[in-house]
Amino acid sequence: MSYRDQLKDKQRIVIKIGSSSLQHPETHGLDYTKIDVLVREICDLKNRGKDVILVSSGAIAVGRRAVHLDASRMNELPMKQACAAIGQTRLMMVYQKIFAEYNHMAAQVLMTKNTIVDNLNRFNARNTFMELFELGAVPIVNENDTVATYEIELGDNDTLSAVVGALVDADLLILLSDIDGLYSDDPRSNPDARFISEVDDLSTVMDMGKGSTGSDVGTGGMNTKLQAAQIATVSGMDMVIANSADIKVIHRIVDGADIGTIFKSKPDPAFDLPLYVQQMHK
Ligand code: GLU
Repeated sequence: MSYRDQLKDKQRIVIKIGSSSLQHPETHGLDYTKIDVLVREICDLKNRGKDVILVSSGAIAVGRRAVHLDASRMNELPMKQACAAIGQTRLMMVYQKIFAEYNHMAAQVLMTKNTIVDNLNRFNARNTFMELFELGAVPIVNENDTVATYEIELGDNDTLSAVVGALVDADLLILLSDIDGLYSDDPRSNPDARFISEVDDLSTVMDMGKGSTGSDVGTGGMNTKLQAAQIATVSGMDMVIANSADIKVIHRIVDGADIGTIFKSKPDPAFDLPLYVQQMHK
């Protein structure tokens, strides 16, 4: 049995999708076809008896489009947060509707850094997730951008998804992104960049990224994905980065297909999630 084969037995799966993967690039309008496939894939995993959490970005992007704001106003923090408030509800309305079409229930969970750092908040959040699993609902998670200034809080949803996975003892994290996975260098500028399909030891990959170009590994955004991998692997999750161009990769990954980059779990009992989160972005 190959390493990938055992992904079939994963019981608790966190799936993260980014704003750009939910929108049409030409207009930034929501890509309903993609969202529909995403929800269908998740409902199918639910029907296979798995617990699934969706970490979805898009609040700010959807809100911004709703109020027709141009890019220059998006530097203002209160404006961004107002957009998040408008966009989050729009996004949830779409999710709720499509989940209902497949006879499943979506539940919104908005978190901040404090949800993890504060003992009582963390305890409550974990209990809520457990109860939602019990009820068969699909928690849809985002950072509470309206009250958390997202650059200085948990920050990005790659990290958030790993943190959520660690909180609920998930065993698989799938990051859907606009790249195929991890490359030894940025494939857009270096034709010799090598695709890495399996990572056993995260530290070797971190070093490789700091190689000749002096840049991070692969394309932009890989930094936060490697941070997510760090949290995920020590918390006992395998993590897969895959391209969101075809959302159906979700069930293929869970069926054990060799898609994207897998970071193999390496549980570390000494890993202290609240402490780690507290020290982030300092
Ligand atoms: N929480 C932000 C949003 O929903 C996005 C953060 C991220 O994409 O990493 O708009």
